[in-house]
Amino acid sequence: MLAKKGLAVSPSPTLVIDSKAKELKSRGVDVISFGAGEPDFDTPAHIREAAIAAINEGHTRYTPASGTRELKEAICRKLERENGLHYTPADIVVSNGAKHSLSNAFAAILNPGDEVMVPVPYWVSYPELVKLSDGIPVAVETREKNAFKVTIPDLKKAWSTRTKALVLNSPGNPTGQIYTREELEVLGYYCLEHDIFIITDEIYERLVYDGIPYTSVASLGQDLKELTVLINGVSKSYAMTGWRIGYAAASPEIARVMGAIQSHATSNPNSIAQMAALAALDGPQECLAEMLLAFAERRKYMYQRIQGMPFLRALQPQGAFYVFVNIAEALGKTHGGKVVADSDDFAARLLEEKKVAVVPGTGFGSPHGMRLSYASSMENIEKGLDRLELFLKELQ
Ligand code: PMP
Ligand code: GLU
Repeated sequence: MLAKKGLAVSPSPTLVIDSKAKELKSRGVDVISFGAGEPDFDTPAHIREAAIAAINEGHTRYTPASGTRELKEAICRKLERENGLHYTPADIVVSNGAKHSLSNAFAAILNPGDEVMVPVPYWVSYPELVKLSDGIPVAVETREKNAFKVTIPDLKKAWSTRTKALVLNSPGNPTGQIYTREELEVLGYYCLEHDIFIITDEIYERLVYDGIPYTSVASLGQDLKELTVLINGVSKSYAMTGWRIGYAAASPEIARVMGAIQSHATSNPNSIAQMAALAALDGPQECLAEMLLAFAERRKYMYQRIQGMPFLRALQPQGAFYVFVNIAEALGKTHGGKVVADSDDFAARLLEEKKVAVVPGTGFGSPHGMRLSYASSMENIEKGLDRLELFLKELQ
């Protein structure tokens, strides 16, 4: 019998859809993928150059397990400059992507049976990562009328004496919603009162539209900062998903434990990718503005098209690059004489019959939803949405 813990974990559905779509494409199938959880842009040239220079200059050996001093200092400068947060290198742990940072954070704070509140819809990996650290994920239901943002009454229903942490993700995957400063103050106060850690996943923090102000919950006071593990990385902001660099900023005690865990599990994150991340954080930021402009246009187009389609309902995303769509009204209808049973079935049939890949809501704890990524060219988006619309019109 293999490990129960391992057997209980299912593969990341977002990555499954993404590789399925990529595989179909490589076989010559004309598939349009809305599954991508990564920017479709190349890593900016100055970052690539920094990596090549790093290889040629011999940055090819082990670094300190929790990241180089230079990169930690650059992360501290970024957090000060953009988030008004003061950290020192002893508070920073650089890991193999933000996913790994999250994994280390849960490993550092959870004891068996500790509960972690995870607002629904959640990014697919939070519950699984909590379980892998022997914690219990507690799904916190949120309401559409609150833009799926968690409120105090929602938390009160989910809280127990075993509650150890709350996960916040702003801008959120899959909804793209952003918590305001006032909302974070209220939630932060609740966590302080109940002595709950806040794991704040800020990976989409630079992908914000319409000039909406962004606040990190850690910036709302020293006591809150001490309770918070801030997670961020370069994957999304700098189109560096394959490089695998994420980081956490936390109290020195938490950072020390996370670093110790990492020192045995993986040692340092890739030395060359660390040099590239340094160039990303310290270098020119125009690349980000260009990417944001393209995303903003696609977001507008996709949201408007969805508004006009039968059976669908969505909230306008404020950040990230996803639209989360309520497909409840389409479920139970028939397509080609067969009932579309649930969101998994909806996604499977859409891929099978119209060659459009979407991520069903099940993995996000929201069985009536589907996630569409607009990290794809306008041409693909138009074509994919035409096919989706046709599929919907054929429902009876
Ligand atoms: N958090 C969220 C909300 C994400 O969508 C992702 C995307 N993979 C991550 C964390 C992990 O990012 P990384 O590629 O840095 O591991
Ligand atoms: N975070 C991205 C997504 O939600 C990438 C896939 C993953 O890491 O699960 O699609």
